[in-house]
Amino acid sequence: MARETGSVCKLCRREGEKLYLKGARCESAKCAIVKRNYQPGQHSWSRGRPSNFGVRLREKQKLKRYFGVSETSFRLVFERAARLPGNTGEHLIKLLLQRLDHVVQLAGISLSRRHARQLIQHGHVFVNGRRCNIPSANVRQGDTLSFSKREKVVKHLKEAQESRKGESVPSWLQLDEAAMTVRVAELPKREHLEFPVDEQLVVELMSR
Ligand code: SF4
Repeated sequence: MARETGSVCKLCRREGEKLYLKGARCESAKCAIVKRNYQPGQHSWSRGRPSNFGVRLREKQKLKRYFGVSETSFRLVFERAARLPGNTGEHLIKLLLQRLDHVVQLAGISLSRRHARQLIQHGHVFVNGRRCNIPSANVRQGDTLSFSKREKVVKHLKEAQESRKGESVPSWLQLDEAAMTVRVAELPKREHLEFPVDEQLVVELMSR
């Protein structure tokens, strides 16, 4: 997976849209899309119209980068979505939205998705009272997420929460700021994905 940290971020410029991969930086004037909203590289200006394959690939890369998943994980999620009855593209997005790291990030507990993943992998996140250290685990309706009570972790999470104050939490999640818990009130729907992506093109590419 491409690096998300460091002083240079080119992923959004490559996709042509803000993917919000770097927490507070994304809202600041330091955002690479704000500073240089064109593709990176010396000859980016001379690239012609993308091919049909190129258009489909961009849609897939957008999803992969937004959710921070590798090609292998993305394919596994797609295969799972394809086995479900109904619209594969919709299932694909819903399964990605249900990832534990995405839920922690959406609830405003972490600074970024990468930070959320680190919290989970270090064993600071509990689902229904049981430690879960798998960022790709899917949450279910009614699940309650809680966080480590270790003093250092609590302080760290409060700071993260403070820096993201003002950001709204989606309606399918219920955040209890005082108790530091997040309840999955309902499963996410397709329309809960915040950025425009044509999942049908992704399905066409992945089904080849
Ligand atoms: Fe970088 Fe965030 Fe701007 Fe994307 S939205 S270019 S990740 S700062």
